[in-house]
Amino acid sequence: MDNHKYLNKRRWLREFLLSCLLLLIIFYAVSRLDLSERLYAFSRAYEAVDLDDMLFSLGLFLPIYIGIFAVRRFRELAILVRESSTDGLTGLINHRHVQGLLAQEAGRAQRFRRPLSVILFDIDNFKQINDTHGHPVGDAVLRQVATLMLKAVREVDHLARTGGEEFMLIATETDGAMAREVAERMRQILSDADFGIGRPVTASFGVSELRRGEAASVLLQRADERLYWSKREGRNRVCGLDRRPAGPGLA
Ligand code: GH3
Ligand code: MG
Ligand code: MG
Repeated sequence: MDNHKYLNKRRWLREFLLSCLLLLIIFYAVSRLDLSERLYAFSRAYEAVDLDDMLFSLGLFLPIYIGIFAVRRFRELAILVRESSTDGLTGLINHRHVQGLLAQEAGRAQRFRRPLSVILFDIDNFKQINDTHGHPVGDAVLRQVATLMLKAVREVDHLARTGGEEFMLIATETDGAMAREVAERMRQILSDADFGIGRPVTASFGVSELRRGEAASVLLQRADERLYWSKREGRNRVCGLDRRPAGPGLA
């Protein structure tokens, strides 16, 4: 993104120097060709073309043109900012952006001593779906998972696609016990949904609550370890405690 044309300082400098050069060339041409005198003579020769009207039109045209130009650039910039934080396939927050959000939420939770949890989940045996039905169907499954999960969570939470078939939910104002319940609800919704591929789509979940004084990276690491346990214990389950999950469902 740093290489984008509107964010490149060298490009701005080059454009500024080019504009100055252009101004000099125009000034030189105007004086050499005596353009102002010619324009004046022209407007006197033809009554319909009044010099004042011409100058007034030009004076009106320039700010309108600059206005349109600025609005278009602003729109492009807005799209650019949105795209840089969004996952192209699902429309969820992307990995890069969610890292910043997590650091921000963790900082806030620590400062105000509020609960904060993360839920990591990874679709089970997703490679099989790709292998059996093809990549486009795999993509459609990912989109449907995103839609279902987005509906299942609160607006104040942040749902992100952090990798291929891996997702993260930052659950604000939510302690570990509540987050485990949220994850269990998400797991249930997913395994009950019909994806039209002749088999259920399930996911394994790892849940963790931020501890006092802890960095966001440690919170993530713990959630990841728990997700790993959910996979090890047979998938399609939630692990939210520092022990092996006992059976299908919550642990
Ligand atoms: P596990 O239950 O252990 O998570 O098994 P898995 O098959 O889900 O995990 P694995 O890491 O073996 O495979 C993930 C697959 O996800 C492999 C990769 O081709 C696929 N994948 C990653 N990104 C995309 C994507 O954007 N679209 C599609 N269709 N597939 C993707
Ligand atoms: Mg994975
Ligand atoms: Mg997987």
